Amino acid sequence: MSLLAVENLVKTFGGLRALDGLSVSVDRGELVGVMGPNGAGKSTFFNCVSGVVSPDGGRVLLDGADVTGDSPESLARTGMVRTFQHTRELETMTVRDNVRLAASDQPGERTLPALFRTESMRDREQEVRERADGLVETFELDHLADEYSGSLSGGQRKLLELARVLMLDPNLLLLDEPFAGVNPTLTREIAGRIRALNDEGMTVVVIEHELETLTELVDRLVVLQQGSLLVEGDPETVLSDERVIEAYLGE
Ligand code: ADP
Ligand code: MG
Repeated sequence: MSLLAVENLVKTFGGLRALDGLSVSVDRGELVGVMGPNGAGKSTFFNCVSGVVSPDGGRVLLDGADVTGDSPESLARTGMVRTFQHTRELETMTVRDNVRLAASDQPGERTLPALFRTESMRDREQEVRERADGLVETFELDHLADEYSGSLSGGQRKLLELARVLMLDPNLLLLDEPFAGVNPTLTREIAGRIRALNDEGMTVVVIEHELETLTELVDRLVVLQQGSLLVEGDPETVLSDERVIEAYLGE
């Protein structure tokens, strides 16, 4: 059974069909790339899957269970976590605090005055701090840990975003354009991190606009055009497919 499947997904905005009967599935342990020209519906696909918007038709299945229209909070509890095309870190907070704070995006976490904190909550806070510091180090952000994240480059923000979502310990990770605006060195760095997470067993779906970027990273490519599936298969075959080349020529 697929870990994630969408069946005949439809999402309209006014007269525009952003998703027009999209069916895609992802198996447990896969590393899948989602490509397509601007406006093809890639981000809307993630938005429907992660509960940010409700589809107008079709179904979203997680591990066989129908989760169509479920809230982002309830979906995050199942271990599905996503990043946004435009990163959402707090610019007036340090890198370290941004990573720590990500843990409180978890449902059920509340900030209480110190007086009311129980021992288990203090243990939990300690655990969060250690985990955050570990991720900051793994992502080689330690030299920036006490800087405001507003001072980071675009690429460093993408790394920070990745560290933040990993605080939530996902089993299904959805990444919306993690390489956009990132220089080649950091792109390789981020790609290496994604590969390592997948090697450890995490299922990962990566959206990417550019044609070449994902070729060496993913096992399988899915190409969307005008809200539905155009082509899917192994990267080399997909990238040499005339329909794909044509879809991009029209941009
Ligand atoms: P992609 O990520 O592939 O570039 P999107 O999923 O962002 O494409 O958008 C698909 C289409 O839906 C585009 O034409 C976009 O303008 C439109 N769209 C996406 N989100 C909204 C929204 N919230 N309101 C109106 N139109 C939207
Ligand atoms: Mg997009």
